[in-house]
Amino acid sequence: MRESRKIIAAKFNEDGNVGETKICVRCKRMFTYLGYGHFYCPMCRKADEEDFLKVKNYIYEHGTAPAMEVSENTGISLERINQYLREGRLEIPENSPIFIKCEMCNVDIRSGRLCPDCASKLSHAMRIKMDFDDEQIGPVPKKLIGKMRFIKNEK
Ligand SMILES: [Zn+2]
Ligand SMILES: [Zn+2]
Repeated sequence: MRESRKIIAAKFNEDGNVGETKICVRCKRMFTYLGYGHFYCPMCRKADEEDFLKVKNYIYEHGTAPAMEVSENTGISLERINQYLREGRLEIPENSPIFIKCEMCNVDIRSGRLCPDCASKLSHAMRIKMDFDDEQIGPVPKKLIGKMRFIKNEK
């Protein structure tokens, strides 16, 4: 049987370790993650890049826009746009009335999953457990920092 002669090899990532099994954020199928990029399986990677480009181009052409408007005009779901924000591929501009929250302390951040403070407290083991990378550190909006300073000065 030809099939039995098929040769297989384990996949290795940059560190020389066998790639981890991850769930693709897009199609929810399991795939071998090779230790770089976002958690998309090879099948979704291309489609994802095309979708992301639609969102990016829309923003380039129209300037900053509400997520809902971007979603309606590009056909990309709000859920996916939110995913891009969490991955640190998109960010919320300073003048937005609404931001996303740090997953740990709930402070407003403009992109990613954690504020710089919480990210700096993460141990290496925690980073691995949370699948967290530096791109997911989100800046805290300046006006919030300003506001906090203002309140402090008044006291
Ligand atoms: Zn996939
Ligand atoms: Zn935080």
